[in-house]
Amino acid sequence: MSSVASIAQSEQVIPLSEEEEAIRDLVASISDGELAPIADELDKKEEFAQSVFEQLSAAGIMGLVIPAEYGGAGASLLAGVLVMEELARNCGGTALSFGAHAYIGSYNIYKFASEEQRRRYLPDLCSGKKYGAFALTEPGHGSDAMGLQTRAVKKGDRYILNGSKTFITNGSVADTFLVFARTSEEGARGISAFIVERDFPGFSSGKPMEKMGMRASPTTELFFADCEVPQENLLGAEGQGGYMALQGLDMERTLFAGLPIGLMQGALNIALKYSSERKQFGSSIAGFQLVQAMVADISMQLYISRLLAYSAARKLEQGERVTLGASFTKLFASEASVKSTLDAIQILGGYGYTREYGVERLMRDAKLVEIGGGTSQIQRLIIAREVYKQAGLEIH
Ligand SMILES: Cc1cc2nc3c(=O)[nH]c(=O)nc-3n(C[C@H](O)[C@H](O)[C@H](O)COP(=O)(O)OP(=O)(O)OC[C@H]3O[C@@H](n4cnc5c(N)ncnc54)[C@H](O)[C@@H]3O)c2cc1C
Repeated sequence: MSSVASIAQSEQVIPLSEEEEAIRDLVASISDGELAPIADELDKKEEFAQSVFEQLSAAGIMGLVIPAEYGGAGASLLAGVLVMEELARNCGGTALSFGAHAYIGSYNIYKFASEEQRRRYLPDLCSGKKYGAFALTEPGHGSDAMGLQTRAVKKGDRYILNGSKTFITNGSVADTFLVFARTSEEGARGISAFIVERDFPGFSSGKPMEKMGMRASPTTELFFADCEVPQENLLGAEGQGGYMALQGLDMERTLFAGLPIGLMQGALNIALKYSSERKQFGSSIAGFQLVQAMVADISMQLYISRLLAYSAARKLEQGERVTLGASFTKLFASEASVKSTLDAIQILGGYGYTREYGVERLMRDAKLVEIGGGTSQIQRLIIAREVYKQAGLEIH
């Protein structure tokens, strides 16, 4: 099914600018034309969608939310959500790799880099000549990211990095890594951020991990063995990396919500088409009220997820702090996408359980969004903390 359903739905939720509509339609056409026909193969073979990224590069999308003066498209953050939706509708893994490159990789560099660093790194990331990645998680530090142990020690005009990262999206295809490492023992205040290039001495990446979903997105370990990073690749000052990682999370959680939204839209499209064609007991299963109830639930969760994501994105654009809204968005949309994709499988019955219709792939992709970027448990902790704070109360 074409992108018609998703287009109609995004416009019902919020008025979009002409530019936002044009970007969404452009990416929808790449997603339906280039990505949809190969999405199953990418999943089966665990392959990165190189040809799709080339098309996104040619269309000027790779630097979507970065200002034009650095080679980006200068689009709104809401456009960032829409692009994730349009890619994820056909392939969650491709949306994940795009977001790791364009948002947590490149946009975080734009936000926190010096003018000189922006001019050195952003044009190649925005043109798609180079791919980006964001490296925070370590084997021993996931949810407790601020406890990370990769070390960066200053020696002369360089930092020497030792340690490892894990679960890094685009680890095997990226050229430019935003890496967080410890420069002192002061907890979050002892973390610094560095731009690491793939060919720096002492850097290497592991083989892509085998995963249940998001299989078109390569996830690897990264290794730093006396890795030499020039001092001019430190972002901001020593000790500001923890702040940068946490600040970046509000943007990540908001823009990446487009991913579960797209998965839900993809699942709904398949369920609508199938249920209107499938006949049992002499009539279309779309006429059965228990099937209609599942369609209603998916549609409502999709609508609420869009409301949350679009409103958080508009607030972010205006420079507002959206920690609570971003966690509401991430938690709700992630859990809604797992439930909705399971419901869509149920609507297709036995055929939903096979690979034929692609809906089981969307469900496998959806499970990741309850884990990556802060698990659902961590989102509930953040929400509770913010709610107590807003009530002027402290949790002891
Ligand atoms: C496909 C994929 C792509 C990823 N991409 C990236 C990337 O590009 N860059 C990057 O830096 N990271 C990335 N990650 C890592 C991801 O962000 C972490 O997996 C996630 O933050 C959870 O960390 P963990 O896996 O170590 O789980 P853990 O932190 O070990 O959590 C295990 C369980 O314990 C629960 N738990 C932990 N602490 C608490 C608590 N205080 N209270 C209640 N429950 C708790 C968790 O909710 C979870 O259920 C990716 C992960 C995957 C799987």
